[in-house]
Amino acid sequence: MTEKNVEYDAIIIGSGFGGLYALHHLRDNMGLNVRAFDGAGGVGGTWWYNRYPGARVDAPSSPFYAYTFSKELVDEWDWTETQTSQASVLAYLEHFAKRFDLLKDIQFETWITDARYDEAAQRGPIQTDHDVTASAQFLICAVGALFVANMPDYPGINDFAGECYHTGRWPHEKVSFAGKRVGVIGTGSSGIQAIPEIAKEAEHVTVFQRTPQYSLPARNRPHSQEELARFRADWDELRTSMRKRGGWPFETNRRRASEYTREQRLAIYEELWEQGGIHLSINSFVGVISDKELNEEVGAFVRGKIREIVKDPQTADKLMPDYHFGTKRLILDNGYFETYNRPNVALVDLREDPIEAFTPSSVRTKNGEHPIDMLVLATGFDAVSGSMLKLNPKGRDGLRLEQKWGERFDNYLGATIAGFPNLFMIHGPGAPGVFFTMPLGGELTTAWIGNCIRHLREQNLGAMEATADAEANWDREINAIAEQTLYPLTNSWYMGANIPGKPRQFLGHLRGSQYFDRLLEVA
Ligand code: NAP
Repeated sequence: MTEKNVEYDAIIIGSGFGGLYALHHLRDNMGLNVRAFDGAGGVGGTWWYNRYPGARVDAPSSPFYAYTFSKELVDEWDWTETQTSQASVLAYLEHFAKRFDLLKDIQFETWITDARYDEAAQRGPIQTDHDVTASAQFLICAVGALFVANMPDYPGINDFAGECYHTGRWPHEKVSFAGKRVGVIGTGSSGIQAIPEIAKEAEHVTVFQRTPQYSLPARNRPHSQEELARFRADWDELRTSMRKRGGWPFETNRRRASEYTREQRLAIYEELWEQGGIHLSINSFVGVISDKELNEEVGAFVRGKIREIVKDPQTADKLMPDYHFGTKRLILDNGYFETYNRPNVALVDLREDPIEAFTPSSVRTKNGEHPIDMLVLATGFDAVSGSMLKLNPKGRDGLRLEQKWGERFDNYLGATIAGFPNLFMIHGPGAPGVFFTMPLGGELTTAWIGNCIRHLREQNLGAMEATADAEANWDREINAIAEQTLYPLTNSWYMGANIPGKPRQFLGHLRGSQYFDRLLEVA
């Protein structure tokens, strides 16, 4: 498609949960002239790319990891399982795009190669890799918090001659593991979801693990029609409740650990483990993520469970997490630890037996050689800031985002950046992102962005941007919240610690409901 200098009110980059809703809201509720661009071949964002076997929603219940604003949509979509599969989430987003007639305003397979701010015009011109140029008064970056793949750079890895896939860039055609020796690097959410599925089919799986993880049973099960009917009947109330309770609609237990004996607490952990491991985190006791002693008690409980499940004691030893429970993203699995009881699965602990190099047909570690036919990289993402830096927009006076964010991801509210007028981020650094339900978070952020736009237009103002002071105060505010917890003590992608050289900075807002109150206050 060739289009030159088309003028829009707003350009949206990305058509995942955030971008699709932004398109609907700005176009249909506000009457703006909007165009969305996406480098992918279809809608879905992270759900378009992450097609690895076993990929599922890891929220406690599917209907709440979905758009909340339209009761009709809630009524017409049947979620079949509590942890929806990737294919079903993608089908839902495709349905959403069709139902709200969004596809006609999205240009797929088109990357924005340049996004600038033109001070004189108070507009942002863009260029794409498809001979399309355009400009808009507002640029909405719905570029995804987990998009830029982290590729390990072991010596010789590019010489590996077998099939090689990153979980976040999984092929659309079916990948067959049958008769193959598969090496998997990475045991975060993606690796832990994929490994049991790969092991069912492959001849042999070798898991290369750097950090052992806390993973909890997902207890995925079908949703009953009665359950869905109940959610639908109470939808307005549930939606309000999600907004108030950090994205989750139901009352969580506010028990105080000190009011229970150790035996009683252990019995409670046991019960919550059976209900589904996520409840250990949200429904056990107040302070699990901030009180070291209580945190260690829950951690020890989970380690005990891993030991019970994994039959070989040496393998179980290697699987023992040793960081504070919950300070890396909690993982919900479907039979992950059980997989190590299979005869075709081996675990290499990279902390004692590091990878030295790849050959065309093997991984060589300090203690030996592991022949493989296929390599699966479940090595995660340059999270949150990475996708904005890939876009690398230019602000006032040609300031490039990579210059501004060289040492710290300064911004205001995770949504705006000083020096970048009229640019908005959905789920930027410091926004609640994965610490809240992302679809609802996107709706609420978009509503705020829409109100900013409305205000500017009503007041006949051309542009708005954050001040440097506001950014500094905001930085202090979100860090003060994070520092009340154990999160900053752990090397995780939340801290930027998974990417060599990335500034260490907490990348989220831990109190989603408070954050959205704050947005209203700022408005
Ligand atoms: P991740 O959590 O960052 O895990 C990456 C894994 O790769 C870690 O085990 C990491 O080890 C390892 N790794 C990275 N570089 C390595 C290297 N050079 N050598 C050896 N190991 C290396 O990434 P992810 O599993 O893709 O998940 C990212 C996030 O996406 C999740 O936290 C979650 O928020 C989201 N997600 C959600 C779902 C869902 O079900 N909804 C599914 C998948 C992902 P270290 O721990 O030592 O860094």
